[in-house]
Amino acid sequence: MSKDLFQELKFRDPARARALAQALARNMDAIGREVAVMHVCGSHEQAIARFGLRAVLPPTLRLVMGPGCPVCVTDGPEVDEAVALALQGVRVCTYGDMLRLPGTARSLADAQAEGGEVEVVYSISQAIELAQAHPAEQVVFFASGFETTAVATAAIALARPPENFSVLSAHKYVPAAMDLVAGSKETRIEGYLAAGHAAIITGWEIFEPFARRTGAPVVVAGFEPLDILAALVKLTELLKDGRPEVANVYPRCVTREGNKAAQASLWKVFQPASGRWRGIGEVPGGNLALTPAFAHVDARRRFAIDTGPVRDDSAAAEARGCLCGRIMLGLATPDHCPLFGTACLPESPVGACMVSSEGQCRIWHTYGGVPDLRQVG
Ligand code: SF4
Repeated sequence: MSKDLFQELKFRDPARARALAQALARNMDAIGREVAVMHVCGSHEQAIARFGLRAVLPPTLRLVMGPGCPVCVTDGPEVDEAVALALQGVRVCTYGDMLRLPGTARSLADAQAEGGEVEVVYSISQAIELAQAHPAEQVVFFASGFETTAVATAAIALARPPENFSVLSAHKYVPAAMDLVAGSKETRIEGYLAAGHAAIITGWEIFEPFARRTGAPVVVAGFEPLDILAALVKLTELLKDGRPEVANVYPRCVTREGNKAAQASLWKVFQPASGRWRGIGEVPGGNLALTPAFAHVDARRRFAIDTGPVRDDSAAAEARGCLCGRIMLGLATPDHCPLFGTACLPESPVGACMVSSEGQCRIWHTYGGVPDLRQVG
């Protein structure tokens, strides 16, 4: 790529950042009251915290993170299923962040320590390679992630995987959780930033019924600091003008209709199902279950999974003071938690939000939450 083309991109242009911050301040002045908006993506939170964007937001604009960390919302009983499989002799493969995620009694790391076969993989393709390398063993991929990641799982299911390979789906569907948040009287979220990578698959039109139904505008945002600031300017503009519409400020990647082929694969392999999200509870249509046509790769249908009695792990963590549930609903931030950075640390997490690099507590522990620029020399 030529140097000129790099200069064209201008993703880190301080003058543009200042101009966007000023436009944001003007919009909030015109609105004239406090407003809370939510993003639902760990990658957005990483960029917001890493680049200290909350320090340049007008004080009346509250930008909160919702249920945007797929590892955090994987429920304890789902982890229990993976643990039970590992302890009954199945080789369980999953992403690294899932290893220390607490189940109701044990994590997969605990199962590994007890002799269970647990492998960390970087992609589902690597799990397929393991199944091919161990044809005499059963290999289960414990699949977490939102609809973006579920597309990769769907592609593998459609590609005739080895007979000794199956999927334990903990995939979640974000629009269902947005409906739940919007329906909550407590959260009072007035507008949403939608994750650009998920919208590459779904297209931005998927949010139109949501915006009409809830009266809350939605803006699709990319992941550079300027993408996020520009999306906030657009979102506050829509709020100022009372227009509950969908806007796409990530047009270099996202189209109105999205990737139709990927959507077709996704809905051939998965169907929405009601299920629990950790810390949040039952989310109607919030889980992605394999369709009956893919029963041959569905670990829940292929194995008798005995998890034993289930405890409510969220309640146990809450009893220790963990605010993960409230954080994932945008009702609290990590600094409200008395355990943040003391009893709860990345190496010894109490709640799920500290386990994953996409969890808000872990992100704030790494980068800080709301930097005070007055302290910068
Ligand atoms: Fe839960 Fe730890 Fe976050 Fe507190 S800091 S809310 S205990 S994950």
